[in-house]
Amino acid sequence: MNESAKLLGVSAKGPRFLQLIFVDINGVPKGMEVPIARYEEAIEEGISFDGSSIPGFQGIEDSDLIFKADPSTYAEVPWEGIARVYGYIYKDGKPYKADPRGVLRRALERLEKEGYKAYIGPEPEFYLFKKNGTWELHIPDSGGYFDLVTLDKARELRREIALYMPAFGLVPEVLHHEVGRAQHEIDFRYDEALKTADNIVSFKYVVKAIAEMRGLYATFMPKPLYGYPGNGMHLHISLWKDGENAFIGEDGLSETALHFIAGILKHAKALTALTNPTVNSYKRLVPGYEAPVYISWGYRNRSALIRVPAFWGNGARIEYRCPDPSANPYLAFSAILLAGLDGIKRKLEPEAYVETNVYEMGEEERAKAGIETLPESLGEALEELKKDKVVREALGEAYENFIAYKEREWSEYVAYLESRELPLETKKVTEWELERYFYV
Ligand code: GLU
Ligand code: MG
Ligand code: MG
Repeated sequence: MNESAKLLGVSAKGPRFLQLIFVDINGVPKGMEVPIARYEEAIEEGISFDGSSIPGFQGIEDSDLIFKADPSTYAEVPWEGIARVYGYIYKDGKPYKADPRGVLRRALERLEKEGYKAYIGPEPEFYLFKKNGTWELHIPDSGGYFDLVTLDKARELRREIALYMPAFGLVPEVLHHEVGRAQHEIDFRYDEALKTADNIVSFKYVVKAIAEMRGLYATFMPKPLYGYPGNGMHLHISLWKDGENAFIGEDGLSETALHFIAGILKHAKALTALTNPTVNSYKRLVPGYEAPVYISWGYRNRSALIRVPAFWGNGARIEYRCPDPSANPYLAFSAILLAGLDGIKRKLEPEAYVETNVYEMGEEERAKAGIETLPESLGEALEELKKDKVVREALGEAYENFIAYKEREWSEYVAYLESRELPLETKKVTEWELERYFYV
């Protein structure tokens, strides 16, 4: 417990303050703090706030919003002696259109209408940097994939993070060093889609907080270092119907799973606008670093966009490898699940099946196999999103807020490139990106 918590007498009396947390259009947590005595009011009537300066929310002329706590998400922050709770946002008595958590709830209701429940398990990766107040990015260890680096701060830090995770309802499953120097991964147990989206927000918060306490910075930026592996956030997805995994077939995957895969492949280009929503995301989606580039699927094949891991019984699932941790999990899940549902409803059949390394195929061979390429920039992904009705509708009216916000982001980057006389295809990580995304 820190000094101010001691001063406030937290240990004797329990938390005295409550953080009310929602996420902005980028999936970044925002919130206000109220005395714990207002908890019931926060659940029943809600607490009003001014949403004018929240990225992707209302303009200043019409910005009164209400936050209503969702008590199922209540947790106490062990090192701070306060409590925090997630919730939904309302405007004029109705769910607010650009509240990402509300967008996902509505998407899940559409899925439920067809009888499905979605479970998702993420594999978020991050880098640890030394905190020295400059962009001179010193990395604090020299390990690689699965290295058991001795005496580095990072492995203790990984364990510390894992020990704090249950306080926020997360069940840590695997901790390991990733391929990049100072790159790490901690996987936690899959859960229902809404809970997993909440868990991703909580996980990033815990990782950053513990790193800071140890004088380090954790970044989930998709590609912090040119020439090093990027940070991915693979998603393991399954749909369940009547309490059973609907992806299990007679002998492998079910028809439902194949249609779901086909739906995602069909909408993959537009989906990247949500699963890879930053300028920096596209610096990761390049050959050579285990990040997907081509729209294909296969069993076990880690060069494919969708991989079907070996499974037994209820473990039947697909692994979608393109998402990165800069995604707003609520919006990304809404889009992915409804793209898959579109495949199921239209009984689409998946093409572009590969069991070889797609990176090593020639262009012609790929064309023959019907394998297309993912968008190469945020600008391209936004164009694809504009053309894709299914993915647009997955966001409901939040689509307007999202596209306006992201088009501005893209044009600011283009202006930056022009000012430096850099080409649009620049694959190096720019100063502009570090400024904007390092703390993502
Ligand atoms: N870091 C890789 C990526 O950008 C993934 C490595 C892995 O397979 O875990 O997606
Ligand atoms: Mg990994
Ligand atoms: Mg994986």
